[in-house]
Amino acid sequence: MKKEEIIVKEETLDPGDWEAMKTLGHKMIDDMFAYLQQVGERPVWQQIPANTKQYFKDALPFQPQTPASIYEEFTKHILPYTKGNIHPRFWSWVEGGGTPLGMLADMLASGMNPNNALGDHAAMYIEYQVIDWSRQMFGFPSSATGILLSGGSIANITALIAARNNFNKNIRSQGLHALNAQLVVYTSSETHTCVQKAVEVIGIGSQYLRQIPVDENYRIRIDLLRKTIANDKQAGLFPFCIIGNAGTVNTGAIDDLDELASISKQEGCWFHIDGAFGAIPKLLPEFEATLAGIEKADSLAFDFHKWLYVNYEVGCVLIRDGEAHRNAFSVSANYLLSHEKGLAAGPEPFSHFGMELSRGFKALKVWMSLKEHGIEKYQRMIRQNLQQAQFLANLIQHSNSFELLAEVSLNIVCYRYNPGNLTDNDLNTLNKNILMQLQVQGIASPSYTLLQGRYAIRVAITNHRSRRKDFEILITETRRIGEELYKNNYSLQI
Ligand SMILES: *Cc1c(COP(=O)(O)O)cnc(C)c1O
Repeated sequence: MKKEEIIVKEETLDPGDWEAMKTLGHKMIDDMFAYLQQVGERPVWQQIPANTKQYFKDALPFQPQTPASIYEEFTKHILPYTKGNIHPRFWSWVEGGGTPLGMLADMLASGMNPNNALGDHAAMYIEYQVIDWSRQMFGFPSSATGILLSGGSIANITALIAARNNFNKNIRSQGLHALNAQLVVYTSSETHTCVQKAVEVIGIGSQYLRQIPVDENYRIRIDLLRKTIANDKQAGLFPFCIIGNAGTVNTGAIDDLDELASISKQEGCWFHIDGAFGAIPKLLPEFEATLAGIEKADSLAFDFHKWLYVNYEVGCVLIRDGEAHRNAFSVSANYLLSHEKGLAAGPEPFSHFGMELSRGFKALKVWMSLKEHGIEKYQRMIRQNLQQAQFLANLIQHSNSFELLAEVSLNIVCYRYNPGNLTDNDLNTLNKNILMQLQVQGIASPSYTLLQGRYAIRVAITNHRSRRKDFEILITETRRIGEELYKNNYSLQI
């Protein structure tokens, strides 16, 4: 009997024409390099036209399209309307600009495409090495553990989960019912909102996040912290964690971390630091006193994608007590058991240190960047940004009709245009309109905050492409727009 031949048509997602794909890839790289080289010549931001926004709503595609035509759509509709954080005059929120080698590293990592959860392969070792380098940067002991995460928010949450699960070993199995105490977390009123989310997510409730008032330089009031802790204890509550700021998001204020470390010790509290960007100057000897106490923290959250300029996204959490870290997250499962040999051997799975299982190879861009520049170059870049903040503050203080709204203790400058004889309310409207015009006209992209009810144009400098002339342009243009708006009752056509 003749065997029936079944023809099975099998497919793959790899290109039918590798040569064409390679040519397109080379073109993309050439285009992106040209784009990066000319970044400062383009507007920092431009409004997305209505028809482009409509294009973003096209329906789910069922039919194929050539990669070349998709790339054409990218260059036409996506690339021009970028956020602008790679531009030399971008100083909004706290954002880094990435680097060309970081871009290439992401391409290499994506090409290898390892799932960096577990196993005996190079990406695991590179991430462990980056964690080790992070320990060295911040003076953590070699027994400390860590993990790379999407950013500061998740790093803060990861630290607080570890703190909570370390507080009582039964919390993992029984939940907070294991306690007959209400836990309380202490931090300043300037702390980033991700900490509130973290306190909510770990089941403590934001009602038990004490946001202690700050002094005139936006640092936590230590006297009020002590008083609040004493009151809470008297009321039968349980102080369990103190969170210090190394660089607040509004003004860059650095809490008295050393003092917070010793209060935490006295009170038996876990001491966590949110150092998303402001922990980075720990690399500079001149910050030894200001940032003293970081090395004493039980946990530290910081970002590589902000003031270490690594391409999005990558943050990190370090936890002093590696056992506490592991005990907070590790679970055993038959399908995840380690072996002595083969792929299932290798270093400890990263799932022991956080919520994720599948994870990308974000360590590669950090590893390549740190090797490319060396810490000494980063020290110079961070110092350069700090000096630019002082340069800008100086320009403001020596310009008529400008006002500095907060002490410049780090890399954040908050100012307003103030021609005189206006109420705070009018100044708020005027400065908000100035900011919108600076962005709409594509000149510069600072952001904003309210400081004691006063609208501040806020310049956060974590930008390795900014030059002093960029800050001069900012001030000249703020004045030009301010004068124009003032003459037009604060409003211009947008
Ligand atoms: C940016 C920032 C965060 C959040 O970090 P992401 O990387 O954006 O998740 C937390 N705290 C401070 C002080 C920040 O500046």
